[in-house]
Amino acid sequence: MEIIIGKMSGFCPGVKIAIQMAEETLKNGTAYCLGEIVHNEQVIKDLENKGMITVNSLEEVPSQKTVMFRAHGEPEEVYELAKSKNLNLVDLTCEKVKLIHEKVKKEREDSFIIILGKKNHPEVIGTKGFAGDNSYVIETEDDILDAYMEFEKSGLSNVYVTTQTTISNKYCDFLINEIENNFIEAEVLIDKSICPTTEIRQAETEKIAKDVNKMIIIGGKHSSNTIELFKISKKNCEKSYNIETVEELDLTDFKNTDKIGIMAGASTPNKSVEEVKNKLEMITK
Ligand code: SF4
Repeated sequence: MEIIIGKMSGFCPGVKIAIQMAEETLKNGTAYCLGEIVHNEQVIKDLENKGMITVNSLEEVPSQKTVMFRAHGEPEEVYELAKSKNLNLVDLTCEKVKLIHEKVKKEREDSFIIILGKKNHPEVIGTKGFAGDNSYVIETEDDILDAYMEFEKSGLSNVYVTTQTTISNKYCDFLINEIENNFIEAEVLIDKSICPTTEIRQAETEKIAKDVNKMIIIGGKHSSNTIELFKISKKNCEKSYNIETVEELDLTDFKNTDKIGIMAGASTPNKSVEEVKNKLEMITK
């Protein structure tokens, strides 16, 4: 049996830095994290054992305590709230996401902002929070008409289009094409902000999935980038499996398989990949 592991498997640079910074912060004592630090239960449990307390809102954080904002980023008003509560903010927002916030802040002065991505994804909620009222999130082509109506109401003539960093590249291009066909009267500036690591990981997933008999995607079931990887994998390799931990791996599914591919999402630790590989190798023993 041959096992092919994607070179891009595991933490992306933004998540890697966020986890390292969180670990450093926790050395000084308890720190609150607004929302799940990453969509991976093992990573969360590990940090909670080191003193992290996950909360759903800043209301749960006592004033003057330390709070961490995760790699996905937060809306502008949440930064203001943290300031007004005198919280010690440790901002783990990925530099690439911060750059999107800065650009959106600049463009919102004279453009209607369109964000391509999942409406309830934390990163998109954060970016929307910086985009202000004259903005719209387009998740599917069904949203384009409503976005256009909001654009007309805004009285603006420019449109600035940005994206969630982990959106599927192909679907993003499809939506951009639809926008260009529908916003004919507007001056549309497209600024695709897909993270290069996402694109490379998706392309590698496609390549491996085409080449193997079975494919395993490791990552949280609620992780947007993992869901995307699984879709790509399934399209190119019918026998694709999404597991979050090694415990979910059923070896009977992989007996008599010549080639197995493994790819892991951006919030999956390398340890999980190693565990899956080691368990698969037991089949040959
Ligand atoms: S996927 Fe890219 S943009 Fe998102 S956290 Fe990771 S490095 Fe940053």
